[in-house]
Amino acid sequence: MGAKNIVIAIDGFSSCGKSTVAKALAKKLNYVFVDSGAMYRAVTLYFLRNQIALDDDQAIAEALEHIHIDFIPNTDKTQILLNNEDVSDAIRTMEISEQVSEVSAVKAVRTAMVKQQQQLGKKRNIVMDGRDIGTTVFPKADLKIFMTASPQIRAERRYAELTAKGENVTMEEVRENLAHRDHIDSTRVESPLRQAEDAIVLDNSDLNQEQQLLYVEQLIQERLAP
Ligand code: C5P
Repeated sequence: MGAKNIVIAIDGFSSCGKSTVAKALAKKLNYVFVDSGAMYRAVTLYFLRNQIALDDDQAIAEALEHIHIDFIPNTDKTQILLNNEDVSDAIRTMEISEQVSEVSAVKAVRTAMVKQQQQLGKKRNIVMDGRDIGTTVFPKADLKIFMTASPQIRAERRYAELTAKGENVTMEEVRENLAHRDHIDSTRVESPLRQAEDAIVLDNSDLNQEQQLLYVEQLIQERLAP
């Protein structure tokens, strides 16, 4: 029998740096990195472009049948394809951030995405980040990390990221968007954001990227070493 594949789940609030840690870890371990938030963002982009109303169950069901999401893994900038179009930049705008939590709260959307995410973890070692990876997508993940950071630090990081890309946003807009998404993500009926009981909390408010990676590597040594 072949060795079991390993799943590392990283969940937490918006803009805690989950993807940064997950990506670096995947690179180091030679695992596949899956950014589940990017999948919800791609669905949101499709819904906006095709004017899918969130109360139109039939249109949503049809749209979901036409949405194919792929990742091109392990390039420096992880690329995400929506029906073969590279949407890596298009999904990171403030416009998408403002709609994505509403779209992600729709049951049919979650069912479709969770199914795809579970498929991705079937045959490979993966690091997946999101909101419900340790609770719903992979409740039996080998290692679960719940990341958090102070709201001020998260807003500063996100603001720096957006303005570096030339987006015209204010700090206040960013702060409000993070609070809005956290609220919807944590209070929705379908797999809300919450810490899995067996997750290890990583508050990275005062840690740089290297320190975070080191911490997670130590956890892996302790927990996953044969
Ligand atoms: O991770 P990121 O901030 O890009 O995720 C965007 C949004 O996608 C989140 O605010 C949340 O509404 C949704 N999401 C989710 N479940 C996940 C990952 C993301 O509902 N597993």
